[in-house]
Amino acid sequence: MAKILDGRIVRDKIAQKLSTQISSLRTKPKLAILQVGDLAQSNTYIRQKMLFGQKIGAIVDHQKFPAGITQKDLISKLYSLNSIPSTHGIIVQMPIPKSLDKDQIIDSISPQKDVDGLTSINLKLLWENRKEGHIPATTKGILTLLDYYKIPIAGKHVVVVGRSFLVGKPTALAFLNRDATVTITHSKSKNLPSITKTANILVVAAGKAKLIGRNHVSSGQVVVDVGINVINDKPSFAKATDGKPETEPVGRKLVGDVDFESVRKIVAAITPVPGGIGPMTVASLFENLLEAYKRQT
Ligand code: NAD
Repeated sequence: MAKILDGRIVRDKIAQKLSTQISSLRTKPKLAILQVGDLAQSNTYIRQKMLFGQKIGAIVDHQKFPAGITQKDLISKLYSLNSIPSTHGIIVQMPIPKSLDKDQIIDSISPQKDVDGLTSINLKLLWENRKEGHIPATTKGILTLLDYYKIPIAGKHVVVVGRSFLVGKPTALAFLNRDATVTITHSKSKNLPSITKTANILVVAAGKAKLIGRNHVSSGQVVVDVGINVINDKPSFAKATDGKPETEPVGRKLVGDVDFESVRKIVAAITPVPGGIGPMTVASLFENLLEAYKRQT
């Protein structure tokens, strides 16, 4: 049976470390989260970020805008946050309505305050393997989790399923920067199992429940399930380490892209959903925030 790579344990350790560091600061790091519209999923993610921020003593300023906000108004909001010295990090919660130009909006965030690491400048720095940028939080979370469990990366074959700008591509690049041999697969890839089976580390970020089953994996692999899919099921409460539920209970269940129960019987290690990369993403975002704070003050 596979070892479980528990993101909550590592998230809590990061929280402790950040909390100690922040308690010794004269001013507090501040993250602005801009939300456009009112997607339930986004509300959940933002709540998790606010709770984490509160726990470590950072300030989180959640600003919510109607789905009909114009491109110009949102960008001018971002410009004004860029110029406020007491705001050290800015993120625009994705997804945003299709009527807005996502790329232009992201690139309106100052790269120094872009703690999600999604501006063109930060992505170029990742491309060039330079350390002065911010790495996208999910990508950073994956690497931190593997490092915590002392899973070697250099020289390993990493297969990334998914090529999105948010997860797949930056994650593949970051593994390349850590000297892995990387294969990226996507929705048009032919014979996925024949590729995924050859991985030492398989990272799945497709957003398709149970995409990866027993036929896609082989023994000895490390499987990182980034997917978050809501399926209708009996009520499910994910127990946090403090015993409080972390996910929405309302007759729905969160699952990843990997058929956890059948795959865990074959591979060497696997991340659960919930409780794997999700918590790591939140913790990594605040690591980026503290780094941004240090660079700006
Ligand atoms: P996306 O929809 O932008 O991209 C999905 C990618 O998967 C695409 O590149 C597509 O080509 C690929 N894909 C789709 N079907 C496939 C198939 N059958 N075979 C191979 N590839 C296929 O999604 P995203 O933003 O990259 O997010 C992916 C998943 O990760 C979603 O479930 C999302 O909710 C989740 N996510 C989780 C976290 C976290 O913190 N755990 C963070 C971000 C995203």
